[in-house]
Amino acid sequence: MAVYNPKSLKAEEFINDEEIKATLEYAEQNKNNVELIDSILEKARPYKTETGVACKGLTHREASVLLACDIPEKVEEMYRIAEEIKLAFYGNRIVMFAPLYLSNYCVNGCLYCPYHYKNKHITRKKLTQDEVRQEVIALQDMGHKRLAIEAGEDPVNNPIEYILECIDTIYSIKHKNGAIRRVNVNIAATTVENYRRLKDAGIGTYILFQETYHKKSYLELHPTGPKHDYDYHTEAMDRAMEGGIDDVGLGVLFGLEMYKYEFAGLIMHAEHLEAVHGVGPHTISVPRVKHADDIDPDVFDNSIPDEMFEKIIACIRLAVPYTGMIISTRESEKVRGNALRLGISQISGASRTSVGGYTEEERPHDSEQFDVSDQRTLDEVVRWLMELGHIPSFCTACYREGRTGDRFMSLCKSGQILNCCHPNALMTLTEYLVDYASDETKRIGFELIERELKKIPRDRIREIASKNIEDIKNSNRRDFRF
Ligand code: SAM
Repeated sequence: MAVYNPKSLKAEEFINDEEIKATLEYAEQNKNNVELIDSILEKARPYKTETGVACKGLTHREASVLLACDIPEKVEEMYRIAEEIKLAFYGNRIVMFAPLYLSNYCVNGCLYCPYHYKNKHITRKKLTQDEVRQEVIALQDMGHKRLAIEAGEDPVNNPIEYILECIDTIYSIKHKNGAIRRVNVNIAATTVENYRRLKDAGIGTYILFQETYHKKSYLELHPTGPKHDYDYHTEAMDRAMEGGIDDVGLGVLFGLEMYKYEFAGLIMHAEHLEAVHGVGPHTISVPRVKHADDIDPDVFDNSIPDEMFEKIIACIRLAVPYTGMIISTRESEKVRGNALRLGISQISGASRTSVGGYTEEERPHDSEQFDVSDQRTLDEVVRWLMELGHIPSFCTACYREGRTGDRFMSLCKSGQILNCCHPNALMTLTEYLVDYASDETKRIGFELIERELKKIPRDRIREIASKNIEDIKNSNRRDFRF
């Protein structure tokens, strides 16, 4: 039997079934142990250091106890600390992005995904380079600067060369004041060599959802195709890091398996990356299974209600305080609004989950990957965020200044974000407002920027940011960053 070892490179040892089961048992036994819960909450709390503020994070066992606990005051306290952590490390900034679907050809048989090869009535599409260009222009015209590219797994239709060509095309398009400055990639698990090629193409984060950490369910949910190989899939992030990609994004597809099992697996995966590579995941996404062509989410018995979903987000925030958290348009405005308070730092806006969807007037359903709940325009999402007191940020500076992996983490840990990310967020928001926003969004935005500038602690940086903001308003100069 495999023995739990977070430093091992073998899936069954770092995501160890016995250890997860023991964790769930421990959590169940201690869910009303107030003394223990208080000590875990105390450990999770941010504390002051000489250079700023820091957090210890939680182990998968500690975090699982909190997730199991349903004493109302304690849950309230978890939410308060989650919000404190979010504000301490990410401030009130919310990074904006959009997915770009390149191809829905797929050879896998995933039971929850409409791209599965047996689905004969979904329209199969693969963008040509010219179509990629049209899609990117449409995204730039909305104001997006950061994309996550998505594709099914198909070595013939979507080989790595196709993905690399698309990345080159995306980075090459300069339309009006637009530019895509960071391309994140969500494609199937691949080889070290291919990860190296993606790194050389200048990608930001490599994102791969585990779907489920429960091996038996994983094998049943992925009955055929290369994705059936649980170990190869689970060990992908280690290969990505070996290939030089130091920002990786984890996630599970909530609803497929029992959320407590998934939660423990997810935190163990983060611990494993930290133990082996010295840097945890750059982001964690929290997708839930949605209705899609040929897919009825009700056939999976593990759907989670909104309240539990919010608690999971808060507990992830407490466990891995420095990791960015992403919520997509799978979720409604209401759920997204609550989740933002509890630790989410990145959201998508105006997403189309169909191949070629951004160049079609009407939201096309024939090649969509899943139903989108939040169907607002980017302008509406940006205005909504500002009305809730958040700063929508279009910043991509860290990645372009080489602040990735542990360099980003040390910036975050030293509390330097107010000197760095805050001015960058305000400058990129100014670019957005000047170039793309409606009059009402502009009005709300410029008032917010005036107030937020005052929060920048060092006079010299505030002065530079404020001068750049005036320059952006008065000229065509773009792309300022610290
Ligand atoms: N093909 C790549 C892979 O195998 O990892 C990933 C790309 S896929 C476009 C992105 C993610 O969408 C999947 O990892 C899965 O978690 C999610 N997804 C698939 N079907 C879904 C559904 N019905 N509802 C919500 N999300 C879904």
